Amino acid sequence: MIEFELTEEQIALQQTVREFCQNEIAPYIKEWDEKAHFDPTILDKMADLGLLGVCIPEQYGGAGFDYVSLGLVCEELEYCDTFARVIMSVHVGLNSMSLYSWGTEEQKQKYLVPQAQGIKKATFGLTEPNAGSDVVGMRSYAKRDGDDWILNGEKMWISLGDVADNFLFFCWTDQEKQKVRDHTGISCFIVERSMPGFSSGTLHGKLGIRAGNTGYFSLQDVRVPKENMLGNEGEGFKIAMFSLENGRYTVASGATGVIRASRDASIAYANTREVQGQKISNFQLVKQKIAEMEADYEMTRLLCLKTGYLKNEGLPSAKAASLAKWQATIRSEKAASMAIEVHGANGYTNDYPVERYLRNCKAAVIYEGTRDIHTLMQADWALGLKREKQARVILPPYQQNAKSFGS
Ligand SMILES: Cc1cc2nc3c(=O)[nH]c(=O)nc-3n(C[C@H](O)[C@H](O)[C@H](O)COP(=O)(O)OP(=O)(O)OC[C@H]3O[C@@H](n4cnc5c(N)ncnc54)[C@H](O)[C@@H]3O)c2cc1C
Repeated sequence: MIEFELTEEQIALQQTVREFCQNEIAPYIKEWDEKAHFDPTILDKMADLGLLGVCIPEQYGGAGFDYVSLGLVCEELEYCDTFARVIMSVHVGLNSMSLYSWGTEEQKQKYLVPQAQGIKKATFGLTEPNAGSDVVGMRSYAKRDGDDWILNGEKMWISLGDVADNFLFFCWTDQEKQKVRDHTGISCFIVERSMPGFSSGTLHGKLGIRAGNTGYFSLQDVRVPKENMLGNEGEGFKIAMFSLENGRYTVASGATGVIRASRDASIAYANTREVQGQKISNFQLVKQKIAEMEADYEMTRLLCLKTGYLKNEGLPSAKAASLAKWQATIRSEKAASMAIEVHGANGYTNDYPVERYLRNCKAAVIYEGTRDIHTLMQADWALGLKREKQARVILPPYQQNAKSFGS
């Protein structure tokens, strides 16, 4: 049964995140964006609220909420600015949920618990300078040395790449399979910043998400014990796809926040700006833009709620997450662009937030599967060329154990 009503706990969580954004991000975001300044204390403040483990079960240090709650948090954060939602996407969606689902008990205790508590920050290293959509084009590799693995490679465009403590690192462990591009030769390792041979840096000159950290990292003969392999040898590609499905859900939910923010900014402006002696909200073509933002918000939010529901129930959700991500991100770009037009020339300046929304939301059309990749995937599902896989993880029911937010 699909419920459209949020629970009291979810409403309290939403309110907590809204207040957090109003107090800790909104007053500073214009300056951070202008100066491309990343404030690392935001991570600790999010950790204090329990957000960095929001849907991780309490047993592993999390707040015990469900997937719908994770989506609500992402929507609220990106309503304010994309960089804050990106933190949730990489730390929770792409990394911690994969540890929860694929990790051994020992890995969960060592890595998941401090991540869910927000003591350690985490991210996801799949993309390389020459391999983004083409995952099997990656060049990173690992070689066995007794009970250890020696890791080498470069990862690029990594959110929190110059900040995080823990990384999921994907690389080839079977060079013969690499030659024939067989993804069952890829494995996943848990890597720590403190390991000898690890180095990282920050990328500069980004169009948007300028208040966030996007970086690169490099591993040169980094030695990890075999216990740091996540999943089995050769399961790296499967883990990456699992992670991306969760990540896509967070990106989609965040994009609904951009549509809502664009709509709200447009309504506020249209109700004050006067042209020819009347408010521009009286003009039909301005109304049309606002109506389209409203429709896009409602439709994409439903796609997100459906995805969250499927995930809560442990039902296959890869197709739904892809559809939500594809549609929410392209509609967020459309909404932000229309919001600039509603604002006229003012929308073209950073006196108003809408130009930031447009710069920020463009990246989401690219990462976690480009618009093109999702278009092709949806066509393949529709044509029966691609099948949904069984869901791997079911969270325990959160209602019984979710921590109380907003108190
Ligand atoms: C701000 C930001 C943050 C990011 N954070 C992370 C992160 O934390 N971790 C991480 O691992 N990665 C991250 N990425 C990387 C992101 O996932 C990749 O950029 C994305 O997968 C696209 O890969 P690419 O840039 O190599 O583009 P390419 O794969 O080179 O694609 C270029 C163009 O070709 C098209 N194309 C490629 N293949 C096909 C095909 N088979 N069929 C049709 N069209 C195709 C694409 O749609 C695109 O239009 C981030 C990127 C950005 C911009």
